[in-house]
Amino acid sequence: MKAVVALGGNALTGKDRKADIDKQFEATQETAKSIVKMIKNGWHIVITHGNGPQVGALLLQQKLSMAEVPQMPLHVLVALTQGQIGYVVQQCLLNEFKRQGIKRDVVTVITQVLVDENDPAFKKPTKPIGPIYGEEEAKKMMKYYTMGKVEDGWRILVPSPKPISIVEAEIIKKLAEKDIIVIAAGGGGIPVVKRGESLIGVDAVIDKDLASQKLANEIMADILLILTDVDFVFLNYGKENEEAIHEISADELEKHYKEGHFPSGSMGPKVEASINFVRNGGKRAIITSIGKAWEALEGKAGTQILP
Ligand code: ADP
Ligand code: MG
Repeated sequence: MKAVVALGGNALTGKDRKADIDKQFEATQETAKSIVKMIKNGWHIVITHGNGPQVGALLLQQKLSMAEVPQMPLHVLVALTQGQIGYVVQQCLLNEFKRQGIKRDVVTVITQVLVDENDPAFKKPTKPIGPIYGEEEAKKMMKYYTMGKVEDGWRILVPSPKPISIVEAEIIKKLAEKDIIVIAAGGGGIPVVKRGESLIGVDAVIDKDLASQKLANEIMADILLILTDVDFVFLNYGKENEEAIHEISADELEKHYKEGHFPSGSMGPKVEASINFVRNGGKRAIITSIGKAWEALEGKAGTQILP
């Protein structure tokens, strides 16, 4: 059985989501234990992950060194974070394999994700990323990015287009089938558009849960396991009458989605990804916390979304 395991900020940076490298190794080492348990039980695993804190830190470094080094476009920064996080995950997994006497290869695939140049998201960049810039800095940044006014200054605004397909899906599938652990589509993937026969990087952020779902369907994974910092998806989350969802059909979940139970900045994309996954051939999508990952994969914890 093949599973795509999507890791949220919590699994890689710890609860406070700071990009401090010691904390990243610490959190990832814990996550590695869960992954190893899956592997030991015969699962073929492809790991995807977010990159919010890391890309934020890179943008801040660029801001502070603006006068000395040229700015890099966002698609290049996403590639950098894929390498950085891939390295941490590879090392943590290899160390855990050693400790448990497992022999297995791990590889990170720099992953491009095709988006549509005519996606309506490009007409109106809405997602603020990175640090806050002053007036002067913001003017300079406008050469590279769309800048939007916020309360204390300016921030980079990027579009969040829908992923269409994963450029490296075929190689990821082959590697996974050879029982190689693959880390891919980090940070939602590097957004690229097609002009003629050429791929060109664009400045956008693809939602990591939606990119993970695309990848999961394209490599024909059985399970999409989305690991975040809550054990369940809840109805009426945070209210007195909140209610954990244990098992639900895509249709039923979609009904609740339309009722507004899942905000677009957090649980919404996970729910949407889960619905899409099971409607496109996936057997089961699961949303749960990193601590419950194994139990959930066995069907004994978390929110289980069925076709
Ligand atoms: P990640 O970094 O894993 O993608 P997010 O912060 O984007 O995590 O999404 C997880 C968060 O979604 C949880 O911490 C929780 O506060 C929030 N959330 C919003 N609505 C719900 C809901 N209906 N059920 C569960 N969690 C929810
Ligand atoms: Mg998120």
